[in-house]
Amino acid sequence: MNNNKSIIHSNLNDYLHSSQSHPITRHWQSQMVKNFSTKDFILPLFVLYDDNGSETIESFPGVKRMGQNVLLEYLSPLILELDLSAILLFPCMKQQKQNDDDSVKNLYDAFDHDKNPLLKVIPVIKEKFPQLLIITDVCLCAFTDHGHCCVFDQHSGQIDNQKSIEELAKLSVKYAQVGADVIAPSDMMDSRIALIREQLNLAGYSHVSILSYGAKFSSCFYGPFRNAAGSAPKFGDRKKYQLPSGSRGMALRSIDRDIRQGADIIMVKPAMAYLDIVRSIADHYPNYPIAVYQVSGEYSMLKHGAQIGLFDLKQVVMETIIGFKRAGASIIITYFTADILRWIRNNGEEF
Ligand SMILES: [Zn+2]
Repeated sequence: MNNNKSIIHSNLNDYLHSSQSHPITRHWQSQMVKNFSTKDFILPLFVLYDDNGSETIESFPGVKRMGQNVLLEYLSPLILELDLSAILLFPCMKQQKQNDDDSVKNLYDAFDHDKNPLLKVIPVIKEKFPQLLIITDVCLCAFTDHGHCCVFDQHSGQIDNQKSIEELAKLSVKYAQVGADVIAPSDMMDSRIALIREQLNLAGYSHVSILSYGAKFSSCFYGPFRNAAGSAPKFGDRKKYQLPSGSRGMALRSIDRDIRQGADIIMVKPAMAYLDIVRSIADHYPNYPIAVYQVSGEYSMLKHGAQIGLFDLKQVVMETIIGFKRAGASIIITYFTADILRWIRNNGEEF
């Protein structure tokens, strides 16, 4: 990490260009809650390295892992016909065989164009759909052998926060280099927003936004996602770095820190069980757009409920979306994005 040109002492939240350099982020920064726009929704996608790969996920009905060719074909009608504006990409890494009964992941694969599918796919998506906003998840859990979102100190066994945030900042710059418009760090390491903002600026990417997972709670609602991304930790859990579900003060402190360190957009995750936090943040920080992530467990719960006839899918999904808006969120990350865009096209933007 080159600290000779460090600007970390300056006010990183003085930078506004990263909030307004793309038409979609400008929309997010300027809108207040009212009607639904297709631009309010972000579609999360799991990306495989194999160009023609397509894998269903048992616990995650209707969601697939896709390689480049399948992904482009999938995205085309959503963008051209339904006005999909923003995607959030997660890499699905292949495990390397160490020997017959063991498999390993390597953190350095994150930076390898021949291994990290996002480094290959982002430029291709950008060329084909230049208007689409590309957000990349930034975390280490897809690349570490132990599946945690950080690097551990080999001697103490504790989180090596400094080393972890240096890797996260390097990965953020790498994604910006291949064309990511927004960096979304989901790791919950301390002070990663400051270092990512600094390193993006030093590398010439001051126009790239940071969507901070500012209030990410430790939650059992993440279950299906971990199957999809292959990111379940091999030991322990993530409670040492994700927020306790009962915490309100810590969530506000975490958001406050990320805003001071230069986040452009702040996020609460999961969504449905944490809407009081969304409202508190909306009241405390009226000058920032708030995103919520309706996570895999919330999606699967609603999808399965509708499949067995508990309720109508459209009605129940839109009720949750209206709840997010009412609580103060203006950006919604949901696996229902394609359905919602279809409903908006058929119904208009008011529900
Ligand atoms: Zn992670």
